[in-house]
Amino acid sequence: MKINVLEYLDEAAAAAPGKTAFSDGADGLTFAQLYGAARSIGTFLAKRGLSREPVVVFMPKSPQTVAALFGVVCGGCYYVPLDDETPRLRVEMIFEKLKPRAAICVRETRDMIKSLGGGCAVYDYERAAHTKPDGELLEWIRGGALDTDPVYTVFTSGSTGVPKGVVANHRSVIDYTEALSGALGFDGETVFGNQAPLYVDACLKELYPTLKYRAVTYLIPKKLFMFPIKLTEYLNEHKINTICWVPGALTMISGLGALEKKPPLHLRTVAFGGEVFPMRQLNMWRACLPETRFFNLYGPTEATGMSCCFEVTRDFAHDEALPVGKPFRNTAVLLLDGDRPVTAPGETGEICIRGASLTMGYWGDPERTGAAFTQNPLTSAYPELIYRTGDIGRYNERGELMFVSRRDGQIKHMGHRIEPGEIETAAMRLDGVTAACCVYDEAHRKIVLYYAAPEELKLSALASHLRACLPGYMIPHAMTRLDAMPRTPNGKLDRALLKSGLNNDHRTEDAVNGRTAGDTARVAT
Ligand code: AMP
Repeated sequence: MKINVLEYLDEAAAAAPGKTAFSDGADGLTFAQLYGAARSIGTFLAKRGLSREPVVVFMPKSPQTVAALFGVVCGGCYYVPLDDETPRLRVEMIFEKLKPRAAICVRETRDMIKSLGGGCAVYDYERAAHTKPDGELLEWIRGGALDTDPVYTVFTSGSTGVPKGVVANHRSVIDYTEALSGALGFDGETVFGNQAPLYVDACLKELYPTLKYRAVTYLIPKKLFMFPIKLTEYLNEHKINTICWVPGALTMISGLGALEKKPPLHLRTVAFGGEVFPMRQLNMWRACLPETRFFNLYGPTEATGMSCCFEVTRDFAHDEALPVGKPFRNTAVLLLDGDRPVTAPGETGEICIRGASLTMGYWGDPERTGAAFTQNPLTSAYPELIYRTGDIGRYNERGELMFVSRRDGQIKHMGHRIEPGEIETAAMRLDGVTAACCVYDEAHRKIVLYYAAPEELKLSALASHLRACLPGYMIPHAMTRLDAMPRTPNGKLDRALLKSGLNNDHRTEDAVNGRTAGDTARVAT
């Protein structure tokens, strides 16, 4: 049984040193090169006195970034991946929380980290990756590591406006890697096409199985996800046979006719998850690729990637919902109504997860960790944590788990998890904005922001302010100014009322206009 994720890397480098492990299509690293660079980086960090602490990897997506992630683990630390497109304010908030002592950067990202101040040493990737590895030191570090030590902290959207850092350990990553690989049938012939950014846990689907099976991952350039034909050409050129993408990336291909014009020729496994895949689009994919296996994956970052899986082997009508299936091996799902198990067929309850795949909670946030990771109410004989997802689920008549809805207002847009509170807090940071409420228009798949501000406050000023604070996927598609926000009788922001004003092309109408005057604009994103 593995106790350290680096065992995957050791074995791959020994068994297939010359085989390409990660490539962006032009530039790649073999398993031996990956192993060598990771050990160099590990030595570099350990010799600077870093140990069991977060090390930020602030690099654009590339095979070298993957080496940096493993390098941090080799050095006995855990990685915190950030993307070069992460807006400065978000980076500042993450640094403010973590207070990291070290960051690995490249030329494009170095200046931003340096300008943050705060005592974080900025190390150049090339320099670290060319350090002479110290085998004895690395062995000593490995010898002291436990499978309960962290591997990474990834930041997800937080409802208070501050991103939450989810801490995963070796045990949870190994458990997930083994369970996912078994369920989806990865092997040595697998050629992954990666879509997920390296700063979210979704990329685990490729990172560790690539090592486990000495497979290969192509890190698909982000810009191709705007050009469906070029994207499927890329898949064909590299004979990519396995993709685990967010539904939005797949529907971009099916919705724009690329499946007929340039069908992917080699795909044998298509997995998707993170949000509901529209059935009509899924049926288009299945009709085009009848030999391909399709999987719906479901799970939260807090349980290390995905927790449940459903292989689509029967037909579904366009208006039917797709099950999320069954939990992975060594994972269990409880449906709870508060602390009471839900047992009646069809009855809904909160989806709660238990098992080795549970992460350790939120970095430096015992309060929110304690609220989401709680004692399993079905036993009081010994301590056992469950993670309360905030998702409502039920079992169908076949005993398959169905995702019904979110309990709170969390938005899932293009596979990204977005807490409306984070957008609202960002909006309210702008002088003049006195209140903000962000809702999701499911029908049009658009994020809509209502904000209270004086007429003089230009919408363009708010739009550019938000662009400076938030990642692109969080920028609202429409923004409506109100003189004052509608409130419920007990003074709370009336979200339901604002949401009901979403009809008619995002114009504030009827109920909302009855109380407030406003203007609306769409935002070019
Ligand atoms: P994240 O932590 O960003 O992966 O988001 C986890 C949340 O995404 C879950 O709690 C669900 O609300 C949603 N989600 C994940 N997978 C699915 C799926 N297959 N179908 C519907 N919603 C999903």
